[in-house]
Amino acid sequence: MPQTADRNRSIVLQQRPHGAPDAATFSLTETALPAPQEGQLLLRTVLLSLDPYMRGRISDAPSYAAPVAVGAVMVGATVARVVASRHAGFAVGQLVLSYSGWQDYALSDGTGLTVLADDGHAVRALGVLGMPGFTAYMGLLDIGQPAAGETVVVAAASGAVGSLVGQIARLKGARVVGIAGGADKCRYVVDELGFDACIDHRAADFAAQLAAACPAGIDVYFENVGGAVFDAVLPLLNSKARVPVCGQIANYNATALPAGPDRLGLLTRTILTKRIRMQGFIIFDDYGARFGEFHAQMSAWLRDGKIKFREDIVDGLENAPQAFSGLLEGKNFGKLVIRLASD
Ligand code: NDP
Repeated sequence: MPQTADRNRSIVLQQRPHGAPDAATFSLTETALPAPQEGQLLLRTVLLSLDPYMRGRISDAPSYAAPVAVGAVMVGATVARVVASRHAGFAVGQLVLSYSGWQDYALSDGTGLTVLADDGHAVRALGVLGMPGFTAYMGLLDIGQPAAGETVVVAAASGAVGSLVGQIARLKGARVVGIAGGADKCRYVVDELGFDACIDHRAADFAAQLAAACPAGIDVYFENVGGAVFDAVLPLLNSKARVPVCGQIANYNATALPAGPDRLGLLTRTILTKRIRMQGFIIFDDYGARFGEFHAQMSAWLRDGKIKFREDIVDGLENAPQAFSGLLEGKNFGKLVIRLASD
């Protein structure tokens, strides 16, 4: 179904998945293009951000945010063009950061929109200069507090958050070990991003390789994935280590607790005897007021060439469900973004 000028294609949640999302999870629907009323504007989506938190939104398990209702349009951050405006604050042609979801067009009353510079770099508002970058910055610096010479470990190291965690830690003088899936991602993390080492979590001897790469133990573990990676990290944590708990992507599709011996006692004993500080955070809930500080610092680092980043751009709204499934399996390489319109 191609995009046409008078129809609006939306991807809606068709049914909640049990385990990994599949072909029955989402469906593409088409409706008439809405017309803005007084005080409204019509947005045409240019770019749609796909992020791991969306797995939580399609589940009705208790969480920090309400789930998407079955039959409703999937939520998501977008870069959008104002194509009609009956709102005094916005003009046709402006580019905005919006939260208009998985659809070609959306009406808005202007609430929550941020006007973006139309400089060819708007995609950064979804990644390095947006929510993922902010997450890396606050989680690492406010909770992780890396000191020069300390060892910082981060998984999903080639991804939107992890790639920035490692580079910021390097800027603070830490030794940084990444964890990523496969040789290509590990090579990129070391050769392009400048991490000191990167270990493939799919290697049979992953835990031994990680221990060898962290001869002085781990002072900061930025937790993005959980699962087998966390099992390998736990015995390497040093006294007074800090563990910002950002995500658990290895468990997002899980339908039951992991099998095997109960490791809760080991975890709490390690936290106690090593006096480890683990702290979860939800970026905008906990740090929303500090977005300006982050944005100014990250912009300066980008201007000075101190931070690198990579986007993984997939064309076509209709390809969003498959790309989203791939994100949960490590198929993306960099910040995952859907490009809807050639703008
Ligand atoms: P990424 O761009 O890093 O993409 C996700 C990556 O996770 C995949 O590419 C894959 O990388 C890795 N992954 C998937 N499954 C596993 C697994 N079983 N074991 C190890 N790695 C796995 O995503 P983001 O940077 O956007 O998000 C990273 C984490 O940060 C997520 O957990 C997300 O939920 C969390 N987050 C939390 C926020 C908060 O406010 N707390 C805000 C934003 C993000 P690879 O191929 O290298 O394994």
